[in-house]
Amino acid sequence: MIQENLARIRGALPEGVKLVAVSKFHPVETMMEAYEAGQRCFAENRPQEFCEKVPRMPSDVEWHFTGHIQTNKLKLVLPYAQLVQSVDSLRLLQAIDRWGTANDKTINALLQFHLGAEETKGGFDEVGIFSVLREYADGAYGHVRFRGLMGMATFTDDESVIRSDFARIRDLKQRMNAAFPQLSDFTELSIGMSGDWHIALEYGATIIRIGTAIFGHRQY
Ligand SMILES: *Cc1c(COP(=O)(O)O)cnc(C)c1O
Repeated sequence: MIQENLARIRGALPEGVKLVAVSKFHPVETMMEAYEAGQRCFAENRPQEFCEKVPRMPSDVEWHFTGHIQTNKLKLVLPYAQLVQSVDSLRLLQAIDRWGTANDKTINALLQFHLGAEETKGGFDEVGIFSVLREYADGAYGHVRFRGLMGMATFTDDESVIRSDFARIRDLKQRMNAAFPQLSDFTELSIGMSGDWHIALEYGATIIRIGTAIFGHRQY
């Protein structure tokens, strides 16, 4: 099943769009089925689960992190994550930069934009994203490399709401690229999950994050 799911999704992806398998709550055995079907990029949402799984999977896995991180849990995530997609506050950003400085490591990161209607979804607003990139362009956050934006659309069946969310983050990214042309690494747009990735592709997604449509439903 996992193999078929992956093949179906991959078959629909344009060149250059990265499929991230979101494996939270699924055991390593299940993840290995995806690995054996050729999947190499996985993402987790919880620091403890993440750092327990990393050593149990093959070493050529590319790991992303997509969940909220309390600053005291950074050490469980930053040594292993090739991309932290969920930088959702200034406090976290500053802590990541300090960790990078102390550990002589540059952390690849996406700024999480508060896109969906839900208050529970974290992230920066537009002004916050602009001001972080302004500071970054002026030399701040020297141990972070901002690669783009991540967002989660409103959880709804109303496709027009999802489309307007995706249009907003796409437009924000375009405005940031226009405002900071010197940030030539700021290229990624991580939008699209199991229910809406087809739509996300129309809005310029470069990364889609898929859990359920690969692995089936999670046990909470
Ligand atoms: C869980 C999760 C996903 C995957 O969700 P599915 O609907 O199962 O595809 C993607 N992104 C984030 C940030 C998540 O927390």
